[in-house]
Amino acid sequence: MNTTRSSELFAKAKTLMPGGVNSPVRAFGSVGREPLYIGSSRGDRITDADGNEYIDYVCSWGPDILGHAHPAVIDAVKRACENGLTYGACHEGEVILAEKIKAHFPSMELLRLVNSGTEAVMSAVRAARGFTGRDRIVKFEGCYHGHSDGLLVKGGSGQLTNSVPDSAGVPAGFTENTLLARYNDADSVQALFEHYPDSIAAVIVEPCAANMGVVPPEKGFLQSLRDITKKYGALLIFDEVITGFRLSIGGAQEFYGIKPDMTALGKIVGGGMPLAAYGGRREIMEQVAPLGAVYQAGTLSGNPIAAAAGIAQITQIERTADLYPELERKSAVLETAARKAELNVNRCGSLMTVFFTDTQVTGYETALTANMTEYAKFFSYLLDNGIYTAPSQFEAMFVSYAHTDEDIAKTAEIIAHYRKEN
Ligand SMILES: *Cc1c(COP(=O)(O)O)cnc(C)c1O
Repeated sequence: MNTTRSSELFAKAKTLMPGGVNSPVRAFGSVGREPLYIGSSRGDRITDADGNEYIDYVCSWGPDILGHAHPAVIDAVKRACENGLTYGACHEGEVILAEKIKAHFPSMELLRLVNSGTEAVMSAVRAARGFTGRDRIVKFEGCYHGHSDGLLVKGGSGQLTNSVPDSAGVPAGFTENTLLARYNDADSVQALFEHYPDSIAAVIVEPCAANMGVVPPEKGFLQSLRDITKKYGALLIFDEVITGFRLSIGGAQEFYGIKPDMTALGKIVGGGMPLAAYGGRREIMEQVAPLGAVYQAGTLSGNPIAAAAGIAQITQIERTADLYPELERKSAVLETAARKAELNVNRCGSLMTVFFTDTQVTGYETALTANMTEYAKFFSYLLDNGIYTAPSQFEAMFVSYAHTDEDIAKTAEIIAHYRKEN
């Protein structure tokens, strides 16, 4: 495989950007390689700058649930561009998109469009604090909620791979109101509430964790969070930036049948453009400016091009009756292949992680038992066989509707033949 052009670009990029990348999860450092530069994408394939083609299971870390460059989404963006890229003013697209989001996430009685998942979560937490008049929040070890200061504590994703437990540059005072609980351990949440019964504004959780690798919630866990928060007058925030529109059209809250007070969406909702959303119960969101005293704003929020992409993608999802059964079926083929190779796999719908540990991964501690060197070998084996996956043990494989049966079969064949001792 010739990757000369990628290498040239990376050499130059390193002189321009920290580590040569615009987001640490794109670095291939933890798998001992250099990143590939992508030139184009279509369906379930991406092509790098040297013309090598791969079957892609990163899917831009989730947005591309219909596959890359879906014609309906591309057309909508092209048409929207003709009318200008941004107004910094109200427009019809944001109303249509908000209406669609609310139709699928009825718990989001009022919502705001923003530009990234980080911003959505950060704003949701601010609104939760403003509404409750309380300062503390509970987050789970290994859950990632974007890179805002207060949430960069045992954050998962790139923070795990790069072994940075907390970020430098975050004053201790900024995280002193962030309490840590253990995923799939409702007792650890209960204990925090017993200690701080009146000062916890919210519990924030990835309803299916996917940033320490995929860790599904155990039966009863989310319900316990619902019960405990209700009992103590705190809010339950679902960070559905990955799971929204992925586990079902109504996200994890529909899939698991648990109604949170607030929700953050990102990734899929923007159709591949920088767009995210947060919202929740009306009386909470009525605290947000200009109605209330919680300030949150954005020059490009609800950007017309991003809104057009989001509308097109969600419309396409609505029209694809077999989307979720197909994602489940295709993903199950990959899981079966991994089990055939005696790999330790966690899967939730179209999210899947192969963990290189003998321990069953149910949370942060067990995720950390995974052997990153072993993962690096697996990653390289797949890449050398034309399969592009996350360059980190602590991420998900994303299956899209565009993954063809042939490519799924091919991938399954390659995974099934993996031998750990290779
Ligand atoms: C990706 C992600 C975020 C952050 O979204 P960005 O758009 O990268 O800022 C937040 N929460 C979860 C669960 C995510 O997976």
